[in-house]
Formats: sequence, C-alpha cells, structure tokens
Amino acid sequence: MRNYKIETQCVQGTYRPESGEPRVLPIVQSTTYQYYDSDTVADLFDLKSATHMYSRISNPTVSELENKMALLEGGVGAVAASSGQAASTLAFLNICQAGDHIVAASTIYGGTYNLLAVTLKKLGIEVTFISPEASCEEIIGASRPQTKALFAETIGNPGLNILDFEKFSKAAKEMDVPFMVDNTVATPILCRPFELGADIVIHSTTKYTDGHATSVGGVVIDGGTFNWDNGKFPALVEPDSSYHGVQYVRDFGKAAYVTKARVQLLRDFGMTMSPFSAFLFHLGLETLHIRMERHSENALKLARFLENHPGVSWVNYPLLEKHKTYALAKKYLPKGGSGILTFGIKGGAQAGKELIKHLEMTALVVHLGDLRTSILHPASTTHRQLTEEQQMAAGVLPDLIRVSVGLENIDDITADFDKAIRAVMTV
Ligand SMILES: *Cc1c(COP(=O)(O)O)cnc(C)c1O
Repeated sequence: MRNYKIETQCVQGTYRPESGEPRVLPIVQSTTYQYYDSDTVADLFDLKSATHMYSRISNPTVSELENKMALLEGGVGAVAASSGQAASTLAFLNICQAGDHIVAASTIYGGTYNLLAVTLKKLGIEVTFISPEASCEEIIGASRPQTKALFAETIGNPGLNILDFEKFSKAAKEMDVPFMVDNTVATPILCRPFELGADIVIHSTTKYTDGHATSVGGVVIDGGTFNWDNGKFPALVEPDSSYHGVQYVRDFGKAAYVTKARVQLLRDFGMTMSPFSAFLFHLGLETLHIRMERHSENALKLARFLENHPGVSWVNYPLLEKHKTYALAKKYLPKGGSGILTFGIKGGAQAGKELIKHLEMTALVVHLGDLRTSILHPASTTHRQLTEEQQMAAGVLPDLIRVSVGLENIDDITADFDKAIRAVMTV
C-alpha cells in the first residue's frame, strides 16, 4: 500500500480479508485469544511472537487502525490509546522520567499544556515553553543536558500559527532529541510531519480522524527515524528487567520506540483504545481525504466572507494573506488550511456570547473536527477560570470566537453567520 496515493490508502487501508472473510474490518470484541499449547504463550510473554495475547496490549481491530495511521503518516508503527491526552502521556513517558526535561512550543492545545506544565511537573519532569517565533539558537538555548524531546503542533492553538518545521527539526537535531509533533488539526492529508523532520507524531483521533464526533481516542506514530542509542535514552538500549532483558533498540530496530510504548507502558498504564472506537476511527479514515479538502475549502470561504463583514473586527485563518504565518502555511499546507478559524466580533465578549444565541444551524460545542459546523467562545467557556490577564497570555482575546467549519453547503454556513452577526449589531 506504500506505493499508492494517500487517497487510495484512506479508502483501502491495510486490512486484507482472506477468501470468505468479511470485506469490512470486523470488530473483534474479545479480551482474550486462544492457543493450542503453553509454549506459544511463553513466546508471547518473552516478546518472541507478535500475535495477540490480551486486548489491553493489542487487539486485531485496534491493530488495523494503528497500521492505517502508520501508513497514512509514513511511519514504521503506531500505538493507539484511549484518548489524545492518553496518547500524549504515553508519547512523553515512553522516553522521560523524573529528572528529565522537555522543550515545548507555548502555542499548544490547552490539555497538553496542563499535562506538561502541571501533571508531568508533579512527576518530576520539567518543561520549558518557548515562543514558536523563537530563533533556532533560542530553542537550543532552552535545552539542558536532561532534555529528552522537542514538542510542537503543526497548527497551533488558538493562534492557528503554522509550525516552522525546518527551524524546529534543525534545533531538535542539534539538541540530539526526538522532534515530536501533534498533527491532529492538519491530519496526514494536509501535512506529513515525518517528511519534514519529525520523529514522533501524535494524534487525537477524536477530531478529524473520527470526523463525526462519536468517540474519544488517540494514537502515537513512530517515524523510525531517531537514533535512540545516543547515550540519552538508556531505557531503550539497556535490558528491560520486566521482559527478561529485552533490549528495544537491539531487538526491534527502527520500531524500538513504538514497541516499548506498547509492551511496557500500555501494559502498565492500560490506557487502551476499545475495538469499537477503533472500528469507528478506521471508518472515519476512509473519507478523511474528501472531508479535509472540503473542511479547508469551506473554512477559507467563510474566512473571506467574515473578513468583509461590517460586524467583524478581525479574522484569523492560516491561508489568509495577512495571517502572520501565511508564508509557512503556503509552504507546509499546500492542500488546504484545515477547518478551524477564529474571529473577533465588534462589541467584545458580550457580543460574542450574544452571537451564539442567534446562530440557528451552528451549534455551541466544546469540540472541533466534526462534520457539523460548530462554535465556541473560549473567554466565557473553556477559559473562563482564567483571569483576563491569563486569557490574554494564552491568546484568548475577550472577543475571540472559534469556528470549526463543517461540511454543510457554504452558502448555508455564511447565511447563518451573517444573520447572527447582524442581529448582534442591531442590539
Ligand atoms: C483535542 C486535542 C487533544 C486531546 O485529545 P483528546 O482526544 O480530547 O484527549 C490533543 N491535541 C490537540 C491538538 C487536540 O485538538
């Protein structure tokens, strides 16, 4: 399948039924697998055989989703997790322990920010946040001897800034640590981070992978590109006493990272994706290429419409010429800027809250990547616990409205916004 175009990979995936078997990926709703003798099971426990043993660690339906995500991103392997947050946790804890350090861009998803700034800190892992506009030297300057990863998102949150892959991958190479990228909002249809120097890619499959807002999940994909045997990652090189001395780099080569994430961390933490969720994500991926194209097209059209609206004070979308990372968007997102845009309405926070009441079709939800257009006013909802000062620091302006542009006819989307903005303008 590696030779096929990405659209074909979305549709065909990696699942190949034998004669007489179901054409559609079956949901294997079984915790357990049967064997003829104990020696087979012993080999499984010693990691000498790769079949399934127990669904906390692997399951046939979940495996197909993992294989398909690895195929679409161009990685050597993937491990699914129960949520995007679980995937990020797995990705970091696979290579970090107490005393270690991470350098991360400050413009990241709020949940990931909390994971890094609060929860990993409690586990003894320190994080330095840097501006995505920092120079290569400044990024390297933020590192320490204990630094184990450089992390950023393809499309930042909520500024929708596009990651400067060249600068970040160069810094990661200098630091001799893996470059980890959250590619949730771009998806492999719009951007393939491994081709741009990333070593590990993380997804919340809850968003565009699912696309229909049915399930929570995540996945970590290993590019197989990083040399873990550089003195910084003994846990991947030295014998693992919990597996009779398995040595991940020696025994699993390019798949060392993803193998350790599965057999050690999924085994111990148990943040496993359910087979039913994996089935739905796998189904979602079959139309991902079509959906991302239309999400991007509708979002650019809505952005241009809002730009010219008298009730709108500003619009932010990666592919608007005046966006501050427009040049990076042109370079790294040639197929589209994804479906998220933000805008400010004249009249500030109060007008923002008011606008939502006047929308007829567009729904207020705490989500993005759904095929239905949805809206959120962060200042009065997701970020309401923050002081106004903290909101500003996080880039959450009082009048900022975030739209996840869906797949409805663009004329109906713009009409809904036009009517609601005009209603607010007259009060
Ligand atoms: C939603 C999201 C996450 C977290 O994913 P969950 O599935 O909600 O746990 C991580 N990163 C990004 C960019 C997201 O949008």
